Amino acid sequence: MKIVDVEAIPVRLPEVDISIADGIQDDLILRIHTDGGIVGVGETDSCSPVVKAIIEAPSSWMHCQGIKQLIVGEDPFDIGKIWEKMYQGTLWIGRGGPVLHAMSAVDMALWDIVGKALGKPVFKLLGGAYRDKIRVYASTLFTEDPGEMRQNALSYVRQGFTAVKFGWGPMGDDPKKDIELVKTARKAVGEDVSLLVDAGCCWDAITAIRRAKEFEKFGIYWLEEPLPADDLFGYAKLCESVDLRIATGEQETTASAFRDLIAKGKVSVIQPDVSRAGGITACKKIASLAHDSNVLCVPHAWKTDILLSATLHLVATLPRIPFVEFCVSKSPLRKELVLEPLQVDNGFVRIPQKPGLGIELNEAAIKRYSY
Ligand code: MG
Repeated sequence: MKIVDVEAIPVRLPEVDISIADGIQDDLILRIHTDGGIVGVGETDSCSPVVKAIIEAPSSWMHCQGIKQLIVGEDPFDIGKIWEKMYQGTLWIGRGGPVLHAMSAVDMALWDIVGKALGKPVFKLLGGAYRDKIRVYASTLFTEDPGEMRQNALSYVRQGFTAVKFGWGPMGDDPKKDIELVKTARKAVGEDVSLLVDAGCCWDAITAIRRAKEFEKFGIYWLEEPLPADDLFGYAKLCESVDLRIATGEQETTASAFRDLIAKGKVSVIQPDVSRAGGITACKKIASLAHDSNVLCVPHAWKTDILLSATLHLVATLPRIPFVEFCVSKSPLRKELVLEPLQVDNGFVRIPQKPGLGIELNEAAIKRYSY
């Protein structure tokens, strides 16, 4: 089998509000076509026009090549070899950022092709599943209005979620407000629901230590991204000072960044995003690293059911994981891009069982939102 074409399709809502942290207002869908007629689907959580340019760019020289030119003609079964070819072929412009995001979408689509060609779900190709369903946490944003937050929280609990994460928004504006936000969230979800807090990279280490000590009183499951992503020493200081799980990693790419987060940052939860960190291939390595270090690996997944499906195949193969992220954004892009959206049943989502990633694109929706 040979790759014959790579299609990068940017989609977005007619009106995008760039002032809010909801990344599901736009998206980049990737399709890889093969000579056998099998089509693989991928997605990346990135800047869509930039990723499209990286895919379609004509090659400049050995280490500055366009992704499409690099992989057309390759056998999609050679996933590891293709990954390294893309990495080496973009060495001067890549090693991280949008090039790794583009590679992640390609890697996801290749696993989809191989699964479809073999008639097996991707988790079977990754070593087999420990589970056929997984607990999910409702992932949403803090709002300025406590009433709205309470209502949102109640609706997630009523839908069956047993874990809820609030993030970003007004967190970090004011010390009293920070504590009030978490107190309101805990009160709204009740004592039996796992509560996760995503600070959105808003503090320095000293402030984060103070807030974490306050948040410990509300029994939160983890505190996510309290510091800027590059502040490894700050993370180490924080993790050694508080009795609370500290989670981070959604902005990182490749296994080496996660090795540093574990060894130098001393964090207790890493959150690689399958659509950013290097695809399923890189995230499998990253998850092994976490397992060997006795650190939790709970992937970030704030996009459509394409990324969520890829994530579910990966996490099905991890021996230990408490839950996985389930984005509850009301953006139409969240649910409309696939024909059969993943359903939450009693706080769990089933691992897709159809060949490949197990999803089918909604062509009408892609046409509607592409630009
Ligand atoms: Mg986050």
